[in-house]
Amino acid sequence: MSYKDLAEKIFKDVTETPEFFLEKYKKRELKEGAMVTRYAPSPTGFQHIGGVFAALIAERLAVQSGGVFYLRVEDTDQKREVVGAIEDTINTMKHFGMNFSEGMTGEDTEIGNYGPYRQSKRAHIYNAFAKSLIEKGLAYPCFCSAEELTKVREEQVENKITPGYYGEYAKCRNLSPEEAIAKIEAGEPYILRLKSPGNFETRVNFHDLIKGDISFPENNVDIVLIKSDGLPTYHFAHAIDDALMGTTHVTRGEEWLSSLPIHVQLFEVLGFEVPKHAHFPSIMKLENGNKRKLSKRKDPESAVTYYKEEGYPVASVVEYLLNLINSTFEVWREENPNADYHDFVISLDKMSKSGSLFDIVKLNDVSKNVICKFPATRVYEEYKTWAEEYDKEMFDLIVKYKERTIKAFNIDKEGPKPRKDFAKWTDVKEKVFFFYDELFDKETLENVELPKNMDIEEAKRIAKAYVEIYDENDDNEAWFGKVKELAISLGYTADRKAFKKNPEEFKGMVSDVAGAIRSVVAHRTNTPDLHTIMHIMGSDMVTERFAKFLNL
Ligand code: GLU
Repeated sequence: MSYKDLAEKIFKDVTETPEFFLEKYKKRELKEGAMVTRYAPSPTGFQHIGGVFAALIAERLAVQSGGVFYLRVEDTDQKREVVGAIEDTINTMKHFGMNFSEGMTGEDTEIGNYGPYRQSKRAHIYNAFAKSLIEKGLAYPCFCSAEELTKVREEQVENKITPGYYGEYAKCRNLSPEEAIAKIEAGEPYILRLKSPGNFETRVNFHDLIKGDISFPENNVDIVLIKSDGLPTYHFAHAIDDALMGTTHVTRGEEWLSSLPIHVQLFEVLGFEVPKHAHFPSIMKLENGNKRKLSKRKDPESAVTYYKEEGYPVASVVEYLLNLINSTFEVWREENPNADYHDFVISLDKMSKSGSLFDIVKLNDVSKNVICKFPATRVYEEYKTWAEEYDKEMFDLIVKYKERTIKAFNIDKEGPKPRKDFAKWTDVKEKVFFFYDELFDKETLENVELPKNMDIEEAKRIAKAYVEIYDENDDNEAWFGKVKELAISLGYTADRKAFKKNPEEFKGMVSDVAGAIRSVVAHRTNTPDLHTIMHIMGSDMVTERFAKFLNL
């Protein structure tokens, strides 16, 4: 009996051959340099920021080279599957502005000529390749029980031998086809293993597009190809998929680097060209001075929902991730302040080899820069969408006072140095609350900020005098002229030098008087331009604010 008989015994229903599939999935016609990349999550949980980061790298590479970016669902571990995970992946990627040109479009739907794109639907393909490997004596059924495997492992550990199913420890690798067939006929359960042709003493040189030149010992472990449930392992499935789907660049997390020897060997044993590989480092976090991986369990910012709830615009998160991918993004952004981030070309060789640190302060900085360039109407629309879900009170107010809100968002926006008030939508309320009586009237005396060294009595004195001369038609210059005049009449000065020289001669500077007026209308000492605020509020509201202040 031959390997062919064994293969026939195991896969009697498999009539298709590797050649059939290689013929069916034609080599892609790509223009020079076009990359075919994939995002290949296992649907074992909901997407986190690390997934968005991984997908963004693959998506950018494909799009910027005029290639193909596809979604493959790696669901061969069916016990760990989480309901809704596929949909969540698709929605999350869409939310972050990434579109798959091929692959799964829903739980049961897909587009593209290289499908099925869901591994559990590709068993017939994996089986054809497995059958062919058995025929060639490159794969075999293994009948060892879990207990036997544990025993071998324990012995290896005890004798300080590298643990694993390989060489002399691979009990079933030398079963003859007759012996194997006899066991199968006797109903013994089995799995399929690779008969590794590798030698641990031989080193393999490999060029990783991020890690650079690396080398590792050849794999000599007879890894599992097909599990007892009939589905392949990730190792086996992804090699066949990446070959048949024409992946030119495998981009994935560095946690896969240790499996690379297996994967390189599998590509070779299967007769495939090895695609280019880029293993990117994990996003890191600083904790008590130590770097560690951003954790799904410990770090709220690992959840995609965190950004949505906090109200970071999608563009901010993407730009921040681009910063993590290539630190050169920052300089590019400075040089191209108004360019679309899609115009930034990422490069793998500029990526940090050791892992970039997640830094919320930096994220806020990036986000402020992104938001400050949005026109006021976009700020309004994006904020409204967020508020509808997360701050109903603000939603109702900004809908009711739409015009006023847009004007507020537009303060100092159109100049060369737009204000950078908001990093995220949760910042907005505190910065604009005074434009709405409904919020302003909830304030109590404790909330009122006064200029430094000024008490409420003095502020009221200023308020009382100012309201008499306030005229909503005053332009900025006239407005300031009046404030100045009033200040001087109340014992303040406009002369900084004189004030510095003899501070005891004055109550303060004009800015303190303006500050008092600011406290009246906004209850805060730090606001955008006061004249503009008062102009947006209009005469009735301003006058009322003075009345309220005097009654505090
Ligand atoms: N299914 C693997 C994972 O979720 C994919 C790794 C890869 O991109 O090849 O980690």
